[in-house]
Amino acid sequence: MEKLYADIIINISHEALDKVFAYKVPFSMIKDIRVGQQVVVPFGRSNKEQTGYVVNLSRTVDYDESKVKEILRIETDHVGVESNMIELAAWIRENYGSTMIQALKTVLPVQEKVARKARKYIELCIEKVHGPAMLDEYFSKHYVAKARLLAALLDYGKISWEMASKDLKISKSTVDSMEREGILHVVTEYYYRNPGEFSIAKAGVHVLNEQQQELIDEFREDFLREDHKTYLLHGITGSGKTEVYLAAIEEVIKQGKQAIVLIPEIALTYQTVTRFTKRFGERVSILNSRLSKGERYDQWLRAQRGDVDVIIGPRSALFVPFPNLGLIVIDEEHEGSYKSEQTPKYHAREVAIKKAQMEGASVILGSATPSVESYKHALDGTYRLWELTKRAKEAVLPQVYIEDLREELKAGNRSMFSRRLKELIKDRLNKGEQIMLFLNRRGYAGFVSCRSCGHVMECPHCDISMTYHRDGRLRCHYCGYEQPMLKVCPECGSPYIGTFGLGTQKVEAALYKEFPQAKVLRMDMDTTKRKNSHEQILSAFSDGEADILVGTQMIVKGHDFANVTLVGVLAADLSLHANDYRAGERTFQLLTQAAGRAGRGDKPGEVVIQTYSPEHYSIQTAAKQDYHAFYKEEISYRSLMRYPPEWQMLVVFASGEDKAWLDKVMDAMANVVKHMDLMVIGPSEAGFGKINDQYRKVIYIKNKDYETLVKAKNRLEQWIDLNKIRKNLLVNFDFNPMNS
Ligand code: ADP
Ligand code: ZN
Ligand code: ZN
Repeated sequence: MEKLYADIIINISHEALDKVFAYKVPFSMIKDIRVGQQVVVPFGRSNKEQTGYVVNLSRTVDYDESKVKEILRIETDHVGVESNMIELAAWIRENYGSTMIQALKTVLPVQEKVARKARKYIELCIEKVHGPAMLDEYFSKHYVAKARLLAALLDYGKISWEMASKDLKISKSTVDSMEREGILHVVTEYYYRNPGEFSIAKAGVHVLNEQQQELIDEFREDFLREDHKTYLLHGITGSGKTEVYLAAIEEVIKQGKQAIVLIPEIALTYQTVTRFTKRFGERVSILNSRLSKGERYDQWLRAQRGDVDVIIGPRSALFVPFPNLGLIVIDEEHEGSYKSEQTPKYHAREVAIKKAQMEGASVILGSATPSVESYKHALDGTYRLWELTKRAKEAVLPQVYIEDLREELKAGNRSMFSRRLKELIKDRLNKGEQIMLFLNRRGYAGFVSCRSCGHVMECPHCDISMTYHRDGRLRCHYCGYEQPMLKVCPECGSPYIGTFGLGTQKVEAALYKEFPQAKVLRMDMDTTKRKNSHEQILSAFSDGEADILVGTQMIVKGHDFANVTLVGVLAADLSLHANDYRAGERTFQLLTQAAGRAGRGDKPGEVVIQTYSPEHYSIQTAAKQDYHAFYKEEISYRSLMRYPPEWQMLVVFASGEDKAWLDKVMDAMANVVKHMDLMVIGPSEAGFGKINDQYRKVIYIKNKDYETLVKAKNRLEQWIDLNKIRKNLLVNFDFNPMNS
C-alpha cells in the first residue's frame, strides 16, 4: 500500500508555530485529500484538535515515521485554498512579513461555507397522454387534492413547492404519496444569493472615440499574443476610462476568460456597479464586506465555478478564485485603501501584478492622478503608459480660482468662506444650480488648544490631541478616554481655550447663517454610519433635494452630478500638513478629484480652492489640472529626500508596555541591520509615541532596491524568533508605508 504525508500549516497565528507540520494521511482519506483543504489534526503534547491547511502532499517524510500523527478528518464546511493561492500566500509572506497562516487568511477572504439556498419544485414524470385517465381515476375516488395537483402539473409541467402548498393547498403527504405512485418527482434546485438588485437592462454601447479605440486595439493584440502587460491608464475624470475597462473586459470574456475589477470600497455604489451590469448582465457580481456571510460565500462559488465573468469589489476581491483569469482592473489605483492596514501589509496593486503574472492575466491600472510609484513605472517602461487627454463628452475644464485665506483675513473677512466663494454660492443659489463644499476633516471641531500659550489638550494615555464634541466632552479617538471640556488651560491658567479646525457640522451651521434659504445636505463619518446612508444622501442630492452638499473626501468620488457647477475646497492645506511624505501627493489627488466634480454636465463649472499656502506646487498644479507638472516636482522631492519610489523604505514598528525593554530591543534591532550597508534611521518614537498606554517606536530603513530590504526583514524576523521578542512586544513590518 502506498503511503501519503501532508505538510500542514496550523491555524494558529503565532510566530513560533510559523512552520509546516508533517502528518500522515489515513488510507481512507487518500483519494479525497487535496492541497489547500482545511483538515483537523491532533496537535501538541495534549493532542488537542486543531484545524490547519494542507500546503503540500508527499510520499515520504523526513521524521521518524512512527512519531508522525494522523490527520483526523477533512473539514468540509470550510473553503479550501486553491493551490496557486498557496504560492501567492507564500509570496505575500516573504515580501511583506507575516506568518504563513496570516498570509493564507489574506488570500482566503471567504473562509466559511454557508448552506446553499434552495428551492423545491414538483415535476410531472408520467407521459402527458396518460394524464386524463389518471385524473378521472382520482376524481372517481374523490381524491380532490391529488386531482388538483395533477391538473396543475398537466398544465405547467413543473410548479414550485410554494405554489403547490400555498395556492393549491396541497399537503406534503399528498405529494409524497403521488411521488410513491410515480406520478411526480420533487426536485431541489440550488440558487445563489444575490448581493443586490442591479439593473441589467442592456444599455447602448458607446462607439469608442479614436483614443479609446487605439488603446483597445493594442490591448486586444497583446492579449491574443498572450503578451500580458500592466497598463497604466491615465486620464482625467470623465475622459472615458471606465469605457475602456468595459471594452477590455469584453475582449477578455470573448476569449472565455474572467475579470476582476477593484474599486475603492467607498466607490462601490449602485451607480458604478450598474455600468457593468448594463454591459454584461447577470454575469457580473460584487464582493465586499457589507454582504452577509451567505452572500459572500455564494459570490465566491459563482466565481470559482465560472458562473460569473466579472467580480467587482474592494482590495480583498483580488483573491476570488476564477478558473481562467484574464484581466485585473484597478480603478483609482492611487487610493490609499489598496494598502492593507493589517499584517501582512500588502499593496493590492503589487499583489495583483504578481497574481496576474502567475495566472497569465493582464492588469489595467486607471487613475486621473496616478500614484507617483505607478507613473514612474510607466515612464521607465515597466508598465505600458496609456493616456486619455480629452473628456469623452465635449465638456470644458472648470475654471479654478485659488483664494489666499491670509488675504481674506487682512480684508476683514472672518468667515470660513472667501469673498469669491460667497459670491459664487449666491450666484448658483439664484440660478438653481448645485454646489459641493469639500473638507478633509471630520467632527464638529478639531482639537482644543490655548490661545494664550498654545498648549494642546492631549489624551493622558496617548500622545494624541483630543477632540471636542458637542456634548461638552473631550474624547480621544484612539483609546476612547473622555473628560469634560476644560475651563482654563492646565499649563498657564488662561481662560482663552477653545476649538480650532473646521468640521462639516460647523460648515453646515455657517451656511445656514449666511444663506438661510439654502437647503444643505451633509455627508461625513457621522451621517453615513447606517447601511446605505451614503447611497441615500448621494441620490437625494442627485435628485435635487438640496442645493449644497457638504462633505469629507467621501463626496469627491464616484457619483456624477450633472447640475453641480461650483465646487469649493474650504481648507486645502489641512492634508498638506500631515506628517507624511505623501502629503503633497494626497493633496494634489484630493484637489484634482474635487475639481473634477464641477461641470460634468453641459454647464461649465467653477472651482474655488481656499488655502493658506497658495504657492505650494501641489495646489498650483492641481488648480491647472496639470499632472505632469505635479509629478516633476514631486519626484524630485522624493529623490532629494530619499523617499519611495526613488528609494525603498521599510518601517519596523514595535510597541509594548515596558518602555525600557522596548528601547533595548529597538536598539538591538537597529544594530542587526546596521551591518547590512543600509540607511537606518532611528529607533525613534512613532508618530504617536504612546497609545492606550503602549509605547510605540519605529526604525526606518531605506535602500535603493527592494530585495535587500526583504533580506533585512528576514534577518530581523530570525532575530526576533531567536530571542523570543514577540512574547511581550508587538512587532510588525511595513514596506513603503501609505500612512505613517
Ligand atoms: P472616467 O471613468 O474616466 O471618469 P467615463 O468612462 O465614466 O470616464 O466617461 C465619462 C462619461 O463619458 C460617461 O458618461 C460615459 O458614458 C461617456 N463616454 C465615455 N466614452 C464615451 C464615448 N466613446 N462616446 C460617448 N460617450 C462616452
Ligand atoms: Zn495656556
Ligand atoms: Zn487616548
